[in-house]
Amino acid sequence: MGKRIVVAIDGPAGAGKSTVARRLAEKLDILYIDSGAMYRAVAYWAAQTGVALDDMHRLEQLAAEARIEFSDGSSRVLLNGVEITDAIRTGEMASAASKVAAVPGVRRALVQRQREMSESASVVMEGRDIGTVVFPDADVKIFLDASRETRAMRRVIDLEAQGQAVAENDVVREIAERDTRDTTRSESPLVQAPDAVYVDTSGHSIDEVEAMLLKIVRERTSNGRELQR
Ligand code: C5P
Repeated sequence: MGKRIVVAIDGPAGAGKSTVARRLAEKLDILYIDSGAMYRAVAYWAAQTGVALDDMHRLEQLAAEARIEFSDGSSRVLLNGVEITDAIRTGEMASAASKVAAVPGVRRALVQRQREMSESASVVMEGRDIGTVVFPDADVKIFLDASRETRAMRRVIDLEAQGQAVAENDVVREIAERDTRDTTRSESPLVQAPDAVYVDTSGHSIDEVEAMLLKIVRERTSNGRELQR
């Protein structure tokens, strides 16, 4: 059996994490986990059940009880057996997720799930605290970033591709608010781990970023060939 490796990718909204992390996992033929989808799932459940975003106790309960599953290489997300893949990809859910993610009990429950999900398999996991909190001993840590303009533009293109009508100004504001909330919260704020490789994706195509990341992974592992699946 090969060696189990953990690739942790963190960074702000719109830096390109999901797209490249998914591609990287496919290339390496290992598990991909989108941890942000888990915070979005809890926010979605709160909205469905009328739990207020400042009700820390109930939010913690929801996070502990939520059965969040991924299928098809994380491209489909299920909450308690029901598919919520598209429902959690709205600006409203992104915003709600970042409020839910500031609740310490919610983070405790989801971090535990994230560790369990990748206990025995190699994984590419992306989020905000993967290299700092979830897997401080990850074999490879990457901090993916891009200018705020680039990130907002990518978000607009993504949302439009999903058939959602968006006003550019609203997206810029949503990203700015999320950046502030994610970097200033007291529990696991978004910061670059000291041993993470910083990659600025502004002006680079997905193919180029994928190639950069693959190179970083190969330099830090046994050439990426002998991974435990
Ligand atoms: O990555 P995504 O945009 O789907 O994440 C939604 C929100 O979930 C983020 O704005 C952040 O507040 C939260 N999140 C987090 N920790 C993670 C992943 C996401 O706090 N590991």
